Amino acid sequence: MFRKILIANRGEIACRVIKTAKRLGIRSVAVYSQADRGARHVSLADEAYLLGPAPSEESYLRGDCLIDIAKRTGAQAIHPGYGFLSENADFAEKVAAARLTFVGPPPDAIRSMGEKDAAKRLMEKAGVPVVPGYHGEAQNDEVLAQEADKIGYPVLIKAVAGGGGKGMRRVDEPGGFSGALAGARREAAASFGDDRVLIEKYLEKPRHIEFQIFADAHGNCVHLFERDCSLQRRQQKVIEEAPAPGMTDTLREKMGKAAVSAAKAIGYAGAGTVEFIADTKRGLDAEQFYFIEMNTRLQVEHPVTEMITGLDLVEWQLRVAAGETLPLDQRGLGMNGHAVEARVYAEDPEREFMPATGVVTHLRIPAEGEGVRIDLGLEEGEAVTPYYDPMVAKVIAWAPERATALARLGAALETFELEGCITNVSFLRALVGHPECLDAAVDTGFIARHLDDLSAKAPAQKEALVIAALHQLLPEKTAVRRADPFSPWARCHGWRLWGGARQFLHISSAEDLHEVAATFRPDGSIGLELQGWHCRVASFRREGSRVRVDLGERILTGGVIGEAGKVTVFLKGAAYRFGLPDQLAGEAESASPDDRVVAPLPGKVSAVKVAVGDKLRAGQPLVLLEAMKMEHTLVAPRDGSVERIDCSEGELVEEGTALVLLGPVAEG
Ligand code: ADP
Ligand code: ADP
Ligand code: MG
Repeated sequence: MFRKILIANRGEIACRVIKTAKRLGIRSVAVYSQADRGARHVSLADEAYLLGPAPSEESYLRGDCLIDIAKRTGAQAIHPGYGFLSENADFAEKVAAARLTFVGPPPDAIRSMGEKDAAKRLMEKAGVPVVPGYHGEAQNDEVLAQEADKIGYPVLIKAVAGGGGKGMRRVDEPGGFSGALAGARREAAASFGDDRVLIEKYLEKPRHIEFQIFADAHGNCVHLFERDCSLQRRQQKVIEEAPAPGMTDTLREKMGKAAVSAAKAIGYAGAGTVEFIADTKRGLDAEQFYFIEMNTRLQVEHPVTEMITGLDLVEWQLRVAAGETLPLDQRGLGMNGHAVEARVYAEDPEREFMPATGVVTHLRIPAEGEGVRIDLGLEEGEAVTPYYDPMVAKVIAWAPERATALARLGAALETFELEGCITNVSFLRALVGHPECLDAAVDTGFIARHLDDLSAKAPAQKEALVIAALHQLLPEKTAVRRADPFSPWARCHGWRLWGGARQFLHISSAEDLHEVAATFRPDGSIGLELQGWHCRVASFRREGSRVRVDLGERILTGGVIGEAGKVTVFLKGAAYRFGLPDQLAGEAESASPDDRVVAPLPGKVSAVKVAVGDKLRAGQPLVLLEAMKMEHTLVAPRDGSVERIDCSEGELVEEGTALVLLGPVAEG
């Protein structure tokens, strides 16, 4: 076994690999970019070395630097994690040429699966069913459009070099084809430096079912059962579980065999995932599953497999890379219970899951243990930057049966608190508690279909306002306790001496300005009146950011943090953000937010779709912004006209830059 390894990655997966290395007594070398100096993976590792500036091309993708650092530190192997260089065959080759071990499959195996079109041709030959479509060499617009007609709409355009749902466009009718093709090509070129595409029949309501496979260099290959990753947004997984609901032994055997033959067909070694989509019009059916791609690396969702098998897949990877045989054969592998993972992303479910950035000013993660595991990628004080993937943590829950695993996951999510940037935590909470999700009636369109109920805002807005108001009214470390004459509360003056006086507070949320009237009663309780609702606070206790409010008939527990004119309340997995308007300051004068279209993220303007003077309908695309390796369409927030354009194609813009100024609805 290795004595020292270098981890060529960051975030959650770098931390994850370091954990296993520690357990096995292997020393770990971390690498970081200038943006990651204070990152969690850096402090967890035994040693850490700077790669270069923040952009991945100048840091985490610098294969030569990585190899150099490994050589200098005496690391014997490089673990690439996922993303970055994990599926880069040239890098794997260079690592071997430097007489280091690449913790991953042989370069040729990576190459065979690296391009989705070649992979599909290979799988067809190996007798594995593939999604019907076009995966030929010709790439000109006319041929592709003709092929799409032949396949029949709806079709899916995919980047040949694709990954992470990027460079993919669904097209419903011939009229939309050329626009979608251009978008897919642009995104593919930006993300993978390769704009070739393939076209597939778009399956309606499919399920994504994948098999974890493992092979060693001695000809052994097994599968570690399946994962269902059907809960997706934008073709990217959000929740994954194992086993797949409704999977039968016969189908598992059939799909498992197909996955193992896929791996064998390319001389695989190490961890890999063979992904299928299953048409579920007739339920899970042995005749209706198709290969879509193979990921030649460890997968983000590997923890659910670990939890049902009791194995450590990173340990298996290291053993295989060190030349050992697989620890178990197919018959020795078993599964127990059910596991579900939720990916915590810095992104805004209310704004099409747009990635968010910011400095994490407060972070509190659910307690581990009792079937709950947290794979964390950052720490309080760290920034979520636009340079890397916005996934910040994974919450994984296990239980003997699915319903309990989901309940545990939901409960854990309710205690996840992150402030400093927007996250999808409350969305995830709603998702794992959705009745149809509990019934396992899921497919890849589930999230899009249920978006409204899933992002139903502010389920506990009133309660959160109560906490925000108390936070304002009662200074740090003050507690109210009814009928306790010695409590600090009783000694507090101000409001009490004004006897029955009411104090008014103004608290703003994104939608409204709320007025809260507080009455301090002689018995030490507080009456609060807000939005025509009355409540009586019998006691309020806080310890650090934790609060407990006794409303007489019920008790609220949650978190509250505040700084300069802002308060955030955490209740049941949702973060409620309030402002405390400065009552002396006048209304700031500026164009109404509806008049300006601003860059929600730092990025590059890839296209301007309108010209000054154009008439606009609400929802009409104005500017395409390439940010965080994805293309975002910024649309008109209302009907109107284009008054001014403050950006040009190719321009790099900061977050918050006004790009387009809207004018009134044009006459006539
Ligand atoms: P896929 O969606 O490609 O089938 P996964 O679900 O395993 O596979 O997602 C892997 C994706 O995670 C990569 O393609 C990449 O976009 C993203 N990623 C890469 N590096 C990191 C990282 N350090 N932290 C979080 N996400 C990452
Ligand atoms: P990536 O490399 O980005 O992970 P995949 O080919 O694995 O790309 O597809 C990602 C997701 O897109 C799948 O999990 C599935 O939800 C959806 N998808 C892929 N192919 C099809 C298809 N032919 N019809 C419908 N959905 C599809
Ligand atoms: Mg995939």
